[in-house]
Amino acid sequence: MAKPNILYIMSDDHASHAIGCYGSRINQTPNIDRIGQEGMRFDNCFCTNSICAPSRASILAGTYSHINGVETLHDKFDGRQTTFPQLLQQAGYQTAIIGKWHLGHGGGHDPTGFDYWNVLPGQGLYHNPEFIEMGQARVYEGYVTDLITDYCLDWLKARDANRPFCLLCHHKAPHRRWEPDDKHADMYEDVDIPEPPTFDDDYSNRAAAAAAATMRVDRDLDEKDLKQKPPEGLSGQELKKWKYQRYIKDYLRCVASVDDNVGRMLDYLDEEGLADNTVVIYTSDQGFFLGDHNWYDKRFMYEESLRMPLLVRYPQEVSSGSVNDDIVLNVDFAPTFLAYAGIQVPNEVQGYSIRPLLQEQTPADWRTVMYYRYFMHCDGHNVYAHYGVRTRRYKLIYYYEEEPGPQEWELFDLDEDPCELINVYDESAYTDIVEELKAELAALRKQLGDETNPC
Ligand code: CA
Repeated sequence: MAKPNILYIMSDDHASHAIGCYGSRINQTPNIDRIGQEGMRFDNCFCTNSICAPSRASILAGTYSHINGVETLHDKFDGRQTTFPQLLQQAGYQTAIIGKWHLGHGGGHDPTGFDYWNVLPGQGLYHNPEFIEMGQARVYEGYVTDLITDYCLDWLKARDANRPFCLLCHHKAPHRRWEPDDKHADMYEDVDIPEPPTFDDDYSNRAAAAAAATMRVDRDLDEKDLKQKPPEGLSGQELKKWKYQRYIKDYLRCVASVDDNVGRMLDYLDEEGLADNTVVIYTSDQGFFLGDHNWYDKRFMYEESLRMPLLVRYPQEVSSGSVNDDIVLNVDFAPTFLAYAGIQVPNEVQGYSIRPLLQEQTPADWRTVMYYRYFMHCDGHNVYAHYGVRTRRYKLIYYYEEEPGPQEWELFDLDEDPCELINVYDESAYTDIVEELKAELAALRKQLGDETNPC
């Protein structure tokens, strides 16, 4: 059988609770939903470090941040590391990345393993963005999400139809500062978007880290985020609600453009008869707080930020409308693509191929616990560095830095408290669970080779 093509579409900061097929209460995404409806939806896909550059590095290399060297937003990816695009290219795939890269430029940090690359410098701009095409910078007129899709389609049209392709279509949207295009500028104008259940969280009953974070909708969004001065006389809860509507509507407008453009890509596959032999993936580099806990941004190991959407369509092998709830991680993506290309997975890769999960044959020894670590201590929204483990039911988090401290543990029972509002770490009923999870945490840290800042 011919090797399948791979179309990997990744947006930036698109939380699964703003995707229709994940049960969004706030928007619809008919084109993204198609991938899930015609393929498999993963309900427990998590990132290992919830921030842009580190997640991207983990996806490319199949390794955790402390191994691939991109622990923070300030770290650049060393292109000498083995990545799945390099291996696919060596195996005869035509490879390209178009859109957001965010792993450094020049000096060994440009994309490697791609026949063609055309990427945004840094975060890139929404309107009339500059792109760096194979090392040459140029400004293009238009809206970034449309342009990225245009260049993806151009590349597909010009490819050699006799060889498989692997195309990474990386959208900038819906990253802050959520600037929609004209087409979607008036969307939601006359409606109120529902507020999340934890909108009025007061951060009591948890470690000090939650209250210390500076990413509150009511306090920390600035005029550039809101793009308007609040109406005169608004204060308190009224002002908070107004800010939420400003924020979430622009975010969802950016998502709507991503959804339209996903539709363009799917239409092209249909028109060219490529849908059957192409593995199509939709995901985001991590989740996002959509007013949950009165927050925007990500970074925390809490659910909204930890969780990644993951939809995979491959009609030859994946049943339409299937759902998987095994624990899947961003480090699993690279070995999965290698499995589809028939390439042996290098020893240093720390993730596992999810191809058996897509075939509804989860291995008996599939992971039941995942390891997470956020390194950027007080560097960006004042979020404290932490690490932890999550199982199906529990989440144990350790804020490990002494200053400003205190070093603190959190335990959430997700069955009893899915919104993570009550830290039960000190409750006697959970003593055995804490002990078990600490043993899991220590074992995973040892297994993965991350033993700095021991608990
Ligand atoms: Ca991101």
